[in-house]
Amino acid sequence: MRQGLSSTVNDKLKHIGHTELEIQNNKMSELSELYQQVILDHNKKPRNFRKLETANHTAEGYNPLCGDQLTVYLSLEDDAVRDIAFEGSGCAISKAAASMMTQAVKGKSKQEAEKLFNEFHRMVTGELDEEIEANSLGNLIIFAGVRDFPVRVKCASLPWHTMHAALQNEGIISTE
Ligand code: ZN
Repeated sequence: MRQGLSSTVNDKLKHIGHTELEIQNNKMSELSELYQQVILDHNKKPRNFRKLETANHTAEGYNPLCGDQLTVYLSLEDDAVRDIAFEGSGCAISKAAASMMTQAVKGKSKQEAEKLFNEFHRMVTGELDEEIEANSLGNLIIFAGVRDFPVRVKCASLPWHTMHAALQNEGIISTE
């Protein structure tokens, strides 16, 4: 099921390449529509949304600005993320970002997970141009658009900050 979704997204992302000219002409509706579809799908059916009983690392994250809150459960074994899950409530962006974060990080080494956190954070804050700089973000680039909406940057990055805090055993974090 996970593979099915990924290939659908990849197909759509390939298609986006052809619409680059349209985007430059400020016809962003098609692109936004795709992004919204993926985000709404993850919001409606969040992946890995449960308490992970085998977790040996957990952290809680809060974004008081929007009211997003989540707990990230992580099972770290031999420096690899064997399993990851989350619980919480918040806006569609934060929930979709958390859902896609768990998919992206599952099975990765601690180092790879931290690298993705770094790339994602730099992308949503506008430091990384995903079109120019080589990166491992894959379908996570659908969150690039939030950098135009400063209030939403924290919604999208909260799950990643919380995952990072879980890896570092930091416990509780807040975006404020
Ligand atoms: Zn939010």
